[in-house]
Parts: sequence; structure tokens; C-alpha cells
Amino acid sequence: METLVALIDPLAVIDGRKAFFLRDVFGGEVPLSCPYPPLELAFTAAVLREAEIPVEIVAANVLDLPHHKVVSRLSARPPSLVAFPSAWGSLEDDYLLLRMLREALPDTKLAIFGPNVTAEPEPTLKKSAVDFVILGEPEEAILLLAQGASPEVVPNLAWLEEDEVRQTERVFPEGWATYPLPARDLLPLDLYTIPFARRLPCTTMATTRGCPSACTFCPTHIWNKRTVRPRPLDLVMQEIDEIVQRYGFREVVIRDDTFTWNRERVIEFCSLLRERNHDLTWRCFATVNTVDRELLFAMAGAGCTQVCYGFESGDPELLSRSGKRTTVEQGRDAARWSHEAGLEISGTFLVGMDGETRETVNRSIAFAKEAKLDYLQVNVATPLPGTSFGRRQDKKGRNSDPRSFRWFGAATGETEGLGPDELIRESRRFYREFYLRPSYVAGRLRSRRGLQSLASHARLGLRMVRDTVL
Ligand code: SF4
Repeated sequence: METLVALIDPLAVIDGRKAFFLRDVFGGEVPLSCPYPPLELAFTAAVLREAEIPVEIVAANVLDLPHHKVVSRLSARPPSLVAFPSAWGSLEDDYLLLRMLREALPDTKLAIFGPNVTAEPEPTLKKSAVDFVILGEPEEAILLLAQGASPEVVPNLAWLEEDEVRQTERVFPEGWATYPLPARDLLPLDLYTIPFARRLPCTTMATTRGCPSACTFCPTHIWNKRTVRPRPLDLVMQEIDEIVQRYGFREVVIRDDTFTWNRERVIEFCSLLRERNHDLTWRCFATVNTVDRELLFAMAGAGCTQVCYGFESGDPELLSRSGKRTTVEQGRDAARWSHEAGLEISGTFLVGMDGETRETVNRSIAFAKEAKLDYLQVNVATPLPGTSFGRRQDKKGRNSDPRSFRWFGAATGETEGLGPDELIRESRRFYREFYLRPSYVAGRLRSRRGLQSLASHARLGLRMVRDTVL
């Protein structure tokens, strides 16, 4: 069998309905209307290509290829290795795909990765047809496996030997900083939709991996263990040049967990980007304790149009228990400075952390209104295995179903005072009370840009609700 690697972004079917997952460090379900480009697969393909290993990416989700079509496509030219990412809600469906691949391609090695299988590799090794679970980032493990390395010398790998789980050391792959630019040319780029894009075409990129914050509910630490690893800025700029000049994108969402983790680096990023004078706007994610007025003005001056802050809660006590290490006051400052710099603010909030009540939700709603956020997203806190929030809820015997972890919409979880259904109702109340205020709608309608964005947000919002909640 020739050496050939197939990387799949699967189309899942959950309870009889098609489902898309953002199969990255978060591993949540996303609406069918918002499939993101699989950056990790594009990086893996680039790393393999650099080593002259033939590789293809099967973007089964956006190409609408159910598992049997993927299997028959791969059977025409059997790969030596097939790998794909899993997600919290897709695991059973992933097992089905693995079984179908095993039956059709008995000589092909099968590997899976993702936050869920990294947190708990044993069930997947024992219950599925997989050969290897990759713990954390996929690129280097897939490269070594494709080169025929024996599992013992592949870091971050788990496999079964005589029904016993064997596992190599967890280390951060060193290559991330110098991986070649992600192989976007292997993706059907036209078929991806980045939610709330202000300019089209829009795509995503990553300049760092990991997050310095310690949010107890966040699955990023399962992969990254609170260590931030940046790509050198010259490589980041090369990627931006390629995004603009080769692919023609006009907006990019920098999907770093916390883009602003290092102030000096952000200032340099902005200055390098300004020198290039690209027709490109960008958005990023930040924590409120890593920004200041001057930094936000520098970002706006370099084409940044929106910052998404994880405010999480307007209740000081809940916020301090979340592990975020931010304060409500810092949130107010960040919002004020962002507006002064002309940036739109989008905020994420969690409903369902330890101690959540209707009153604490009210405080979050009041904060969101007072901070004059442009947009917000409310998630129900889902206790995920491998997170400290998940472990705590588990010990308390609280309701938990990681399969329902969603980027948008409903999920499971419960607190002392609020059950799963009430948490979902509270999250919907949050949306209603924020978005359906006359002052909010009037404010959006006042400016031309606001009107356009309100229309596009409303359209996308309705599609997201239809795709995820109904
Ligand atoms: S700041 Fe965001 S990405 Fe970082 S740990 Fe907290 S929730 Fe996760």
C-alpha cells in the first residue's frame, strides 16, 4: 500500500439529523449555517506535504458526504493512514465512521484526536475500531505515524496492547512555531461561513495556541495546559499576505484563545500589519484584563473592527469562582475603551456556573446593557470531563452531558438553584432582554452599518436558532 494520508472533517448524523462540529480544542457543535474551516487539518496537511507525504483532506461536512460516501471514496485508493478530529457531541457517530472505515480498509491505520478523546482516551480505544488516539495536537503525531514510526516513539499517543492502554509522554509539539502555512488550497474555501462576518470573503487563522487564563470550565487546557505558544510574527505576516493576495479574503477572524495575551507582540503585530496596507479587516478574542486604551487604539488603527471578550458574568462572586481572574470593573473599562477606539464589542457569557441564580443572571444582563455591548452570545456552562468545573460537578453528582456541548444554543448543566431546563430558559431570557430592547434596536437602526449588521445578524441568528435549537 502506498503511503497516503486522508484527513476527514466528518459529517455527523446525531439523532437522525445532520450536525456540524467545530472539531478543535473546544469541540462543540456549531450550527449547520456556520461551518468553520478546519485549521488543524490544514496545518496537518501542510506538515505532511512538506515531508513529501501525499495527503488529502475530505471536507465531508461541507461537501455533504455521509460516511458511506467517504468510505467508498477512500476505498478507490486506500490510504495508509486515516485521521480525523472528534468532538464532544460526535463521539458515537465517530465510532460508526471508524467501524465503517475498518471494515472497508482493513490494512489502513486509523487515528482520532480531539479534546474529548484526549481527556478520556481509554473508552475510545476499547469501544471503537481506532488504532491510535492522539492526545492534543495532531500534526506531529500524524507525521510520525505516516512515516511508519512505531507508536512507542510517537509522543502524545495512546493505543491498546493486549487490552491494556499504553500511552507515550504528553509534550507540546515543538514544530507548531515553524509549521508551514496551513494548506487552505486543499479545502473547499467557498463552502465555509464565518458567523457575523462584516466583509466577505472572510476566513480564520491562528497565531498562537493556548491560553494563560484558568477558566475552570474551558476545554482549551485539555490540549494546551495554560501554556501559550506563539507563531513568529514573520510567519504570521506571511500567512496574512497569502490570505489576502492568494485567496482574496477581506476579513479574517483570529481564532487565538486570547489574542491580546502579550501586549508587546500585539503592538508589533499591528505595526507590521499597518506597513502592509492590505485591504483587510480583522476580529479577535481577548480577555478584559489584557487590554488597555492605547492597545485597543493600536488594534483599531491596524484594521481591527471587533473584539470578542469572554465577560462570562456580571456577578463579581461568580466571576471570581470561574477562574478567569478578571473583574466586573475590568470588563467595564475594556468595553468603554473599545468603544472609544471605535471597535465593536461582542461578549460571551456563561449561564450555569457554580452558584448561578436568577439574580446573578440579572446582574449579567444588567452588565451587558450597561457596557453597551454590540453583540453577545450566551452559553449554558457544560461540565466537561478533563476540566475542573466538570470534575467538581461530577463529584456533586450534578447533571452533565458533554455530548450536548454547543457553541451556540442549548446544553446541559445544573446549579444548586437551577436545573437544566431552567438554565436553558435563563439563557434565552438573557438573549431576549438584551436584544429585544427598544433602545438596542433603535441604536442599531441609527447607523447605516448598524442597520446592515442588524439585518445580517438577524438572518444568521434565525438560521442558527433553527439549526441548533429547533
Ligand atoms: S479566556 Fe477563554 S480560551 Fe482562555 S481559558 Fe478562559 S474561556 Fe478558555
